[in-house]
Amino acid sequence: MDSVFPIRLVDAKPLAPTVFHYAFVRSDGNALDFIPGQFIQIHFDYADGTPAKRSYSLATIREHSLEPGEAVEFAVSFVEGGRATALFQNLQINDEIRCSGPYGKFVLNERDTNERYLLIGTGTGITPYRSMLPQLEALMGRGIEVVLLQGARTREELLYDDDFMSFAAANPNFKYRPCLSREDISVDAPNVKFTHGYVQSVLAELVPTPGQDVAYLCGNPNMVDACFAALKEYGLSTQFIRREKYVSNV
Ligand SMILES: Cc1cc2nc3c(=O)[nH]c(=O)nc-3n(C[C@H](O)[C@H](O)[C@H](O)COP(=O)(O)OP(=O)(O)OC[C@H]3O[C@@H](n4cnc5c(N)ncnc54)[C@H](O)[C@@H]3O)c2cc1C
Repeated sequence: MDSVFPIRLVDAKPLAPTVFHYAFVRSDGNALDFIPGQFIQIHFDYADGTPAKRSYSLATIREHSLEPGEAVEFAVSFVEGGRATALFQNLQINDEIRCSGPYGKFVLNERDTNERYLLIGTGTGITPYRSMLPQLEALMGRGIEVVLLQGARTREELLYDDDFMSFAAANPNFKYRPCLSREDISVDAPNVKFTHGYVQSVLAELVPTPGQDVAYLCGNPNMVDACFAALKEYGLSTQFIRREKYVSNV
C-alpha cells in the first residue's frame, strides 16, 4: 500500500504551449527527500470513482534533501482527453492533491567510472536532468564531461531552456545540444549548439564509445527505443544505457 500524502499548489506557469510547470509544498509539514531522476505519483479518481494514478518526474533542482515547505516541482505535458491532464488544468493556487513516492532508479550511479554522460530527453523527459544539475556540476568538477540532448519540434517547445543555457555558460564541461525537428536555427551562446533534426542524429557526431560513455534516455518511448538501438550499435552495453519511458499507467 502506497503511503499517500497531500501536496498544495503554490505556483503554476507555462513552459511551452502545452506544458506547465507546477510547484507544490507538502501540506502535512513533512520533508520529501528524493534522489534526482526519481518520480512521484499523483492519485485521483476517474469520473466513475475508479482510483487512478499517474507518474511525474521531479524537476526540482536538488542541492540537498527537500525540507518541509520547500517546493516539489514537476512539469506536466497536457494530452488531449487526458484524465490527469484535466485534473491539472483545473487546479487553482492552494488546491490540494494526493501524492506518493518518490520512486524509481533512473538516477546517477556513484560507482560509474565513465568519462562522459550522454543525457537525452524529449518533452517532459528532460526534467530529471534539471533536477540533476547540482550533482552534474560536482561530477564535472572531477573532469567528467556531460552532453545534454533535448529534443523538441521548435524552440518554444524546449523546456527549462534558460536553466540549461545558463548552466552551459557557467560550466565548460557541460555541452547543451537542443535538437529541433521543425526549426533550423543557430544561437550564439557558450557551449550550446542547435541541431536541425532528431536527437538520434547527433549521436554520429558524438561517437558514443564503450568505457567512455554512460547514457540516460528519458521520455517518448519511440525516442528511447531508437536511441537505445543506436547506442547498442555503437557497442554500449545495456547496463550503461539507462532508460525511463513515459508510458501512460492507466
Ligand atoms: C516514470 C514516468 C514518469 C513520467 N513523468 C512525466 C512527467 O514528468 N511529465 C508528464 O507530463 N508526464 C509524465 N509521465 C506520463 C504521465 O504519467 C501520464 O501518462 C500523462 O500525464 C498522461 O496522463 P493523462 O491521465 O492526462 O492521460 P490519459 O487519460 O492516461 O490518456 C488520455 C489519452 O492520451 C494518450 N496519451 C497518454 N499519454 C500521452 C502522451 N505522453 N503523449 C500523447 N498521448 C498520450 C493516451 O493513450 C490516451 O489516448 C510519466 C510516466 C512515467 C511512467
